[in-house]
Amino acid sequence: MLVLLDRDGVLNVNREDYVKAPSELVMLPGSAAAVARLNANGHRVAVCTNQSVVGRGIIGEERLAEIHGRLQQELARAGARLDALFHAPDPPWAASDRRKPGPGMLREAMARLRRGAEPVLFIGDSLSDLQAAHAAGCARVLVRTGHGATVQGRGIPPELLPVRVLESLADAVERLLAEAPA
Ligand SMILES: [Mg+2]
Repeated sequence: MLVLLDRDGVLNVNREDYVKAPSELVMLPGSAAAVARLNANGHRVAVCTNQSVVGRGIIGEERLAEIHGRLQQELARAGARLDALFHAPDPPWAASDRRKPGPGMLREAMARLRRGAEPVLFIGDSLSDLQAAHAAGCARVLVRTGHGATVQGRGIPPELLPVRVLESLADAVERLLAEAPA
């Protein structure tokens, strides 16, 4: 299976003022170990993240690459790795189809990493994640970390269902592997 992950609120703690430096990247409990479990079970894992912090001119692409270097380090400490990391730098006022809720970035990931017609699962914490995944034809999990509990509380729009709601990435991976071990 191909597992696509949102970044902020799924792998690391969401910051309303954006992750602007490597030191601001704080992993959520168990998230790196969850990616390691997916790796060990033969699933490919990629991140698809909106980073309007770049398009808004708050940080540049070089700084974002440093932040992602830190993310890879944090993952590696748990024996985990990403098969790819995609980001959409667009600001919301000039959003391309790659910026979620558009499906472009997810389609790019699927074109590069999907094997045949295998299932693709998107795990995110925002409504825009669910919308992008729905538009790209991916199965959808909402985690209650980050914005997830708020999104759940407001009610998931019926056209985006089915959506599984789980506590965290660690919880989602545990259940996923129990259901589809390899
Ligand atoms: Mg998020």
